Amino acid sequence: MANNTMMALVKERPGVGLTYKEMPIPEVGAGQVMIKVLKTAICGTDLHIYNWDAWSERTIKTPQIIGHEFVGEIAKLGAGVLGYKPGDIVSGEGHIICNSCRNCKAGRRHLCMNTMGVGVNRDGCFAEYVVIPAENVVRVAKGIDLDVASCFDALGNAVHTALKFDLTGEDVLITGAGPIGIMAAIICRHVGAKKIAITDFNEYRLNLAKETVPGIWAVDPRKESIPELMKEMNLTEGFDIGLEMSGAEKAFADMVENMNNGGKIALLGIHSGQTAINWDKVVFKSLTIMGIYGREMFETWYKMMAMLQTGLDVSKVITHRFDAKDFEKGFEAMQTGNSGKVVLNWNV
Ligand code: NAD
Ligand code: ZN
Repeated sequence: MANNTMMALVKERPGVGLTYKEMPIPEVGAGQVMIKVLKTAICGTDLHIYNWDAWSERTIKTPQIIGHEFVGEIAKLGAGVLGYKPGDIVSGEGHIICNSCRNCKAGRRHLCMNTMGVGVNRDGCFAEYVVIPAENVVRVAKGIDLDVASCFDALGNAVHTALKFDLTGEDVLITGAGPIGIMAAIICRHVGAKKIAITDFNEYRLNLAKETVPGIWAVDPRKESIPELMKEMNLTEGFDIGLEMSGAEKAFADMVENMNNGGKIALLGIHSGQTAINWDKVVFKSLTIMGIYGREMFETWYKMMAMLQTGLDVSKVITHRFDAKDFEKGFEAMQTGNSGKVVLNWNV
């Protein structure tokens, strides 16, 4: 390999699949940092890009290096960057903001009107090196497992959603036991929720939830309805908090039906524009429904790191590990759904 090239996972052209190939090492400009990538995690978004669905076709300009969940070490600092040195272990926020819209100016950076996604609208981190603005870099606290740190983007989604409403002593329904749903359940337990239920159709994932969250009710809603589940849990009034993490219409509709009056729902799951719910229930139960996008910059990252330093353990949600060159096996594990987080190792 030439000195100025690196290996990367590239969407070369429209169509299914990715190519593991040599690419130029990106330049590091003023205000940016170059990070030597150690580990990356595969997100559902990467799977969409791999499969080349309608969203990818609209969004991705080929050729492009994909990926946005990573941990690495600082390799090079661009002009004017202070506070880091080569070798520092870091992750990074994958949403690059404009710093000039109303929300950015007001410090509400996660609400930027012009967000660009690393590995979506520009080259990503499935590579030996990635370049991002220094303001997106997040230092990984000492002692945090690198595999876990590679999943910070997704764990951050779980943290942002779970902590949106006060969980202490509350009964929580989580719909969707994907990696983010299970990590959210672990967070609910960590911060003192009372009873926690999670639903999914996938038995592997329901079992993973049971293994990682003591005392959780993990059920297939096709086999046991939510009212039946509530009976089993001895809940008479409904759930206080709902975390929608499936993107499934039925799951969201059932959640709305079974909330307590005054219940609060944080909605992370990405629904088709047509998803219908019973609006009368929302009104008569006085529900609050809050859409959640990304992570708060950088309060979510702060809380995530703080919880990991005080016993939050999401390591068991990582179920598969491969070297980057064996990425096909990783995407295969994601396709089957019989997986939690899948981590690729780039430090080989
Ligand atoms: P995932 O696709 O791995 O998990 C979703 C799970 O929901 C799957 O296990 C699936 O079997 C389950 N499911 C499907 N229909 C269901 C139903 N009717 N009832 C219960 N479960 C059902 O996704 P993930 O990576 O864990 O992410 C969770 C959701 O959050 C996805 O919808 C994803 O698109 C979305 N997401 C949103 C953001 C954001 O910023 N808003 C960021 C990341 C992910
Ligand atoms: Zn902005």
